[in-house]
Amino acid sequence: MLALCGAHGALYGQAQKWLRYRLQNRIGAQQRAGAILTMYRIRFHGRGGQGMKTASRILGMAFFLEGYEIQDAPRYGAERRGAPIFAYVRADDQPIFERGIITHPDLVVVADDSLVPVPAAGVLGGVDQHTVLLINSDQSAETWQRRLNLDSRIISLPAETIERDELRFIGATCTGAAARLLGVIKRVSLEYAIEQELADLSDAVIEQNLSRALLAYDCMKRNQACVQPVADTEADAYTRPDWIDLPFDDARIAAPDIHAAANSVQIKTGLWRTLRPVIDYERCNRCWWVCSTFCPDGAIKVDGKTPLIDYDHCKGCMVCVAQCPPHAIEAIPEEVAQQQDAEQETIR
Ligand code: SF4
Ligand code: SF4
Repeated sequence: MLALCGAHGALYGQAQKWLRYRLQNRIGAQQRAGAILTMYRIRFHGRGGQGMKTASRILGMAFFLEGYEIQDAPRYGAERRGAPIFAYVRADDQPIFERGIITHPDLVVVADDSLVPVPAAGVLGGVDQHTVLLINSDQSAETWQRRLNLDSRIISLPAETIERDELRFIGATCTGAAARLLGVIKRVSLEYAIEQELADLSDAVIEQNLSRALLAYDCMKRNQACVQPVADTEADAYTRPDWIDLPFDDARIAAPDIHAAANSVQIKTGLWRTLRPVIDYERCNRCWWVCSTFCPDGAIKVDGKTPLIDYDHCKGCMVCVAQCPPHAIEAIPEEVAQQQDAEQETIR
């Protein structure tokens, strides 16, 4: 017989309990399936560091506990904090054979509204009248409706679910709200999914994530089940993606060499920034090398001994803030910095 110590025994018992819970829901899901097969397709958009990957994992786990078959995966490139990323979740009563990025989402969750106008973020890709857009923004849903002129339904995260100066839990808030909009995830399943997915974190952090997610879940009551899945697409009915046929070239041409120098200058990575590093020149002791050396984007140049930040290409990773010996670089929320710029412009 397997002998377990107290802590492991408790975990084992809990896992058994939740597997039984999943199994009961699974039977219900299979009965629900009937003749019409439907799949939920959800896309989370945010910036590296905002917890979108975890948000998709929690939602996937909550679906799983409800008896669904699921897929969840993040997509990000080599970039890091501040870069646009997305993660997606598919959930179906039946095994899922669809693969790849979700091109026609039922629900799009936007954790950071500054991403909407960034073409590289692809927030509005495949959005149509069927899609619900859940957005974290200071602006109202009506403002976004007018601004985007979309047929889709747009819902703003309620103000009481967001602490503007504390966005660490935005992932949990988005997940809680999304779970309620889907209408097929019970509160208890969301709760357990958070405990499971964040099990490696401290009790205090789990508790904070839980309270944010459950508050958002409760606040979305009047929009419950507004997201509707669409019938599964037959394999031969898929439209071919816009792939480009690349002819095979000689290895000297096809190898990953960079043929045009300095083209990264053309990519304005400053658009990705949520925090802006601002140098306090009174405090800067002109060490001349620390911030400019550590900046991974080469976005700080030194003029004489004075550091200057290139805001077109600083993507707000905050490495310079962490490295500056006399703490002369402050991190200011980008929207606050932009307001200050606008005020200064008006004075001039
Ligand atoms: S200037 Fe600072 S915040 Fe901006 S990219 Fe460089 S290290 Fe990161
Ligand atoms: S690291 Fe700090 S002290 Fe050194 S140049 Fe940069 S801002 Fe000034």
